[in-house]
Amino acid sequence: MESPVKTISDLIRNEDNFLVAAHYNPDGDAIGSTAAMGHMLKALGKQFTLYNPSGLPERYDYAPLPAPIETELPETMPEWTIVLDCGAKERMGDALFERSGETRIIDIDHHLGNGDYGEANWVAVDQPAVGSMMAELAKALDIPIQGELAECIYLAVATDTGFFTYGSTTPESLELAAQMLRDGLDLPRINMLITKQWSEPRMRLWTEVMSSVELFASKKIALAAISDEMFQRTGTTSDDTENIINFIRRLKTVRVAAILREEAPDTYKFSLRSYGEDNVQEIAATFDGGGHRNASGGTIKAPLDEAKMQLVGAIRDNLGIK
Ligand code: 5GP
Repeated sequence: MESPVKTISDLIRNEDNFLVAAHYNPDGDAIGSTAAMGHMLKALGKQFTLYNPSGLPERYDYAPLPAPIETELPETMPEWTIVLDCGAKERMGDALFERSGETRIIDIDHHLGNGDYGEANWVAVDQPAVGSMMAELAKALDIPIQGELAECIYLAVATDTGFFTYGSTTPESLELAAQMLRDGLDLPRINMLITKQWSEPRMRLWTEVMSSVELFASKKIALAAISDEMFQRTGTTSDDTENIINFIRRLKTVRVAAILREEAPDTYKFSLRSYGEDNVQEIAATFDGGGHRNASGGTIKAPLDEAKMQLVGAIRDNLGIK
């Protein structure tokens, strides 16, 4: 059977017009991969539109984009849409989901339970980021991984691996970073751009969230809840919570760290993080969520106290801890 990277690189070579999309509320991998895909299409002289319903978050405003990220879909959908880092079809956002019948999808992803919703699917759960898949695609398309393309790929891989510290980090991703560094990637500059994005309101929110962490199950589970009132009062948004959970996970006794963020009245978006064999993807799946073994998320519709109880209960059950 032909490898998916060959099928997809042939498709890209042979077709002309593409929409490039990723999951809404994009993270570094979604933005970096969207931009990297755009750079490759540009290098090949293709027509393309970059799209994300949430737009470009301010904390990635340094990303060297080959074209703006549109928040509206084109009137006429191109024949092909490349959907990146989107672990479930619904995560591409309502607008694209509703019009997905007007285009043919190339699904490139690294999430468990993706469901292969595309016309062509390359779902590689052993890849640490879609960014590292973009690097493989660049190689298949004979495009040098240098300059802005390298910066976008680095942004994607570095953010999705916690700067090459998570269990998902592979020898290949370290080799990719080494090669990009050899080829001129300005590592201190890009690392500074990625990390030096804090606002004062974000720091105030983090202080508050950190000090409100609750511990359960002999301190093996840590949970923090972030209410809309906290966002309003500190002048922050859910974007400002990205990564905070990884610091809560650092508590020595903790096996699973959890965050509940209020999205709407009685609606909480949750994130889970673990290490090693503790599988939080399975826990998220019990709430119709998804993700990876050590990083997952989903939504619970219930008042806060009940949402906490449900989430902590599901974690206890899954880990077999009292
Ligand atoms: P985060 O906690 O950073 O929002 O997400 C962690 C991981 O879980 C990511 O890989 C993300 O794609 C996945 N994830 C988060 N929320 C959902 C959800 O509602 N559904 C699915 N299928 N995956 C999710």
